Amino acid sequence: MNHASYDILALAAHRDDVEQTCGGTLLKMAERGRRTAILDLTQGEMGTRGTAEDRAREADEAARILKVSWRRALDIPDGRVENTWENRLKVARVIRELRPSVLILPYWQGRHPDHYTASVLGYEACFLAGLAKLDLSHVQSSGQRPAEELAPHRPFKIIYASLYYDVRPSFVVDITDQFELRFASLMAYKSQYRDQRTGSGLFPAEAEIRARVESMARFYGMLGGVTYAEPFVQKEVGLVDDVLSIPVKSI
Ligand SMILES: [Zn+2]
Repeated sequence: MNHASYDILALAAHRDDVEQTCGGTLLKMAERGRRTAILDLTQGEMGTRGTAEDRAREADEAARILKVSWRRALDIPDGRVENTWENRLKVARVIRELRPSVLILPYWQGRHPDHYTASVLGYEACFLAGLAKLDLSHVQSSGQRPAEELAPHRPFKIIYASLYYDVRPSFVVDITDQFELRFASLMAYKSQYRDQRTGSGLFPAEAEIRARVESMARFYGMLGGVTYAEPFVQKEVGLVDDVLSIPVKSI
């Protein structure tokens, strides 16, 4: 049986992180015929509102809106994402099963420890996934590829979704045409974002969330000369073939 590979895998600590930081980019790639996937490291059991089961249903709905082909949550404890050997192996197995060309990780600095830990954990898991002599057949499967087909694999490109952190992006992705559906995917997390009483001192009202999400997307859009965009950082330099085709106006 020929198991399909994925073009892009977005990895994040929590369900709804991808929707907030790079959902528009995933949707745009899917609309162009690319196969996209999301791996959430935790299931959201520590959330003030709703249960892990609520979050699972909402995450499936959000994935449907973003036209994501595959989504799964690992069983790493919410609020306790640790860069352990065991966790690196779990992520490495998913990378070998899905074989993404591009991996989107959270930016490596931030307020929430789960976010920056997920970044380093994801990077180190990619390194392990490429080691030919590392046997991952005993690690729990994500159901995409059997143990005998776990050839070593590393993504060609790793980019960091940086929306949660105040850092100048290396580039932005124009999501002007995807913005509304990206916002709808976030609102699919009804237990978290719909106006309600539980935790209302902690959570802003829906209109306020809309204003914040839109402001951020507009800010990064402005940097790129478009209406709405999502920011990314890459560690490598950009390579240009033709200086006449570099986008974003200077003056
Ligand atoms: Zn998060």
